[in-house]
Amino acid sequence: MSKIKIAELFYSIQGEGRYMGVPSVFLRTFGCNFKCAGFGMPRGELSEEANNIDPIKYTDYKMLPLVSTGCDSYASWDPRFKDLSPLLTTDAIVERIMEILPHGEWRDEHLVITGGEPLLGWQKQYPDLLSHPKMKGLKEITFETNGTFRLTKEFKQYLHTWKYHDVDVDVDFWRDVTFSVSAKLPCSGEPWSDAIKPERVCEYEEYGTAYLKFVIATEEDFKDAERAIAEYRAAGFTGHVYLMPVGGVENVYAMNNRNVALLAMKHGLRYSDRLQVPLFKNEWGT
Ligand code: SF4
Repeated sequence: MSKIKIAELFYSIQGEGRYMGVPSVFLRTFGCNFKCAGFGMPRGELSEEANNIDPIKYTDYKMLPLVSTGCDSYASWDPRFKDLSPLLTTDAIVERIMEILPHGEWRDEHLVITGGEPLLGWQKQYPDLLSHPKMKGLKEITFETNGTFRLTKEFKQYLHTWKYHDVDVDVDFWRDVTFSVSAKLPCSGEPWSDAIKPERVCEYEEYGTAYLKFVIATEEDFKDAERAIAEYRAAGFTGHVYLMPVGGVENVYAMNNRNVALLAMKHGLRYSDRLQVPLFKNEWGT
């Protein structure tokens, strides 16, 4: 039976992007190819905040400290915290989802498969999970990805049945698939050549709806976003583009959100909030 290493599994409201405000189950997989230690730091500097957290002190994910710099979901990929993320069978994951859904079944809720980087290690397991009989009512899925991984041949075949409805797929299993691509700009601390992969995102567009979401704090970040957008468009990307303020904690978010909204308006781009920050202080499980 397939197993997936799960950092978090919780029910909340989607705070970002296309499905902002939609009640959603979040499945946070373990593992990422990046560290994004540059977020919230002066350009060229990397955060040590998460590195200074002693994993020995924590036995429960929810007790982990929040960080104001670097990746706000550090425990979903840092090997020092890997023991907090159990390897669960797809059956066990589905049972847990049924427990946290308000009606014990899928109705109008949406599933967010996030990370870490959800396309890094688990593409082989998703068909097992998503084809489980109890997942039948699920109609909308988002993969929150950094946009650097190819889809495997097998996973593409699986997604193809939903996008094109062209084989004998059970009608109850047709899904609307979204790739929410948070491409990492230099303010993340990741090198451009590793992070900006337009051909990958164009491939996602063949199997679902894809959009780009850039985390922004300064005008300099916006100039990087403009350069990246030009590269994605040149490669044939046709989807929407969102600007989202940096800030996994309230004070950082509050310093940025209005300016980023104004920047988005000025340039005719979409603004994505981070509703989980003002609503829930971005605590674990929100
Ligand atoms: S890609 Fe996302 S999960 Fe991975 S390190 Fe960067 S912010 Fe964190």
